[in-house]
Amino acid sequence: MNKNFDAIVVGAGQAGPSMVQRLATAGMSVAIVERHLFGGTCVNTGCTPTKTLVASAEVIHQARRGSEYGIRIEGPISADMRAVKARKDRIVGTSRTELESWLREMNNCTVYKGHARFESAHELRVGDDLIAADKIFLNVGGRAIVPEMPGIDSVPYLTNTSILDLEVLPRHLLIVGGSYIGLEFAQMFRRFGSEVTVIEKGPHLLWREDADICGAIESIFANEGIIVRTEAECVRFARRGEDIVAGVNCASGEPEVVGSHVLLAVGRRPNTDDLGVEKVGLKIDARGYLEVDDQLRTNVPGIWALGDCNGKGAFTHTAYNDFEIAAQNLLDGRSRRVSDRIACYGLFIDPPLGRVGMSETQARASKRRIRVGQRPMTRVKRAVEKGNSQGLMKVIVDADTNEILGAAVLGPGGDEAVHAFLDTMSARAPYTTLRDTVHIHPTVSELIPTILGELQGPL
Ligand SMILES: Cc1cc2nc3c(=O)[nH]c(=O)nc-3n(C[C@H](O)[C@H](O)[C@H](O)COP(=O)(O)OP(=O)(O)OC[C@H]3O[C@@H](n4cnc5c(N)ncnc54)[C@H](O)[C@@H]3O)c2cc1C
Repeated sequence: MNKNFDAIVVGAGQAGPSMVQRLATAGMSVAIVERHLFGGTCVNTGCTPTKTLVASAEVIHQARRGSEYGIRIEGPISADMRAVKARKDRIVGTSRTELESWLREMNNCTVYKGHARFESAHELRVGDDLIAADKIFLNVGGRAIVPEMPGIDSVPYLTNTSILDLEVLPRHLLIVGGSYIGLEFAQMFRRFGSEVTVIEKGPHLLWREDADICGAIESIFANEGIIVRTEAECVRFARRGEDIVAGVNCASGEPEVVGSHVLLAVGRRPNTDDLGVEKVGLKIDARGYLEVDDQLRTNVPGIWALGDCNGKGAFTHTAYNDFEIAAQNLLDGRSRRVSDRIACYGLFIDPPLGRVGMSETQARASKRRIRVGQRPMTRVKRAVEKGNSQGLMKVIVDADTNEILGAAVLGPGGDEAVHAFLDTMSARAPYTTLRDTVHIHPTVSELIPTILGELQGPL
């Protein structure tokens, strides 16, 4: 059946549904097409399930540490993986169904369940339907990469999607990839009771961060008995009976590790290979990301790309900000731009890392004169009181302009505390504004003015 709309949104991820609501509320007729699960990666196989599991892992970890706090817990403490999964499924399921019902009940909105593929610049085929609109918003997201490593096809492997269906505890989980996704799974499964080895080809875990941050994360992992094999330059796999052998060829240590399960966490690729982009001349880069300008317009008039598929961000908050930029420029006469966004993200291990702006390494590479303030969590009273004083906080300031260039807070509540830096940067206020602000005692955030008052440099 042929049907015309004012706008079509492809993908019900983190930008699409909000875009539909803005357009529909403005009186436009809108179609949204979703081929799989409403809520996309974040709700179904990303943020929500992992943070739900991280919460279960934190509870078991704290239960085991009960005696350190003077709390007696009788009997063995173990994870009931079926119940852990059931809790996660309940929370994910509620989010997904609420989103789907919201869209289905929305005025001016038609929901299509199926795969959308371009027929022309303004037409998409969804099963037997051909739908058309002058404005098309692509919010197709991405999926896990399965790298071409020798032997990978000879072993069963897990991705961030399939590992969420496990109802048994892996005896020994091998995780390939020491970045954000891999590290969250590493710590949670270790806490549930698995042996865990992280295999990373770089020189450190999360090696794009400053060396002091990487080092602190490695020591948090070492304290929990997580094995880390860095400089694994030649990873390969083979079966040995029930086990999986991973060859790692690291500079030191055993050349192979033996585990029961393998998780691949080595990056993601955009879902642009099955969209028919070639039919309409949509430009994609060498890695498959849709090319967009600073306002998220593709090279084809009337087509925008929002979220992970444009390669400008890889987070839920960046996808949502893409929606805000496109919607406000189109409907509110604004001229918001992606380049105004300050980079920020969290690593949700325990304690979590909150990051904004440049790392110290990036700031030095930019040839600015910088000043640096830092403090270990052992000197943050709230962290000590909570019994979680691993990590550190640091801030980098431009010595000539007094601008905050970047910050990291690795410690209890670090994912929340870092927003003080982010908001000051966003307000374009000098660091002295934050330095002179009174923060609540006793919090991790109260040391932020302190480290800004103790800056070293210029360096
Ligand atoms: C394990 C994991 C943990 C994460 N944790 C965090 C976190 O804590 N914080 C954070 O900010 N980010 C996190 N992320 C990243 C976050 O999930 C993504 O950045 C976010 O979901 C991107 O949203 P999106 O709307 O661009 O795409 P998606 O959420 O991927 O949505 C795209 C949707 O498009 C649909 N689709 C694709 N192609 C078509 C087509 N041709 N026709 C119809 N429908 C189509 C898909 O089915 C999907 O539903 C995590 C990711 C992973 C994998």
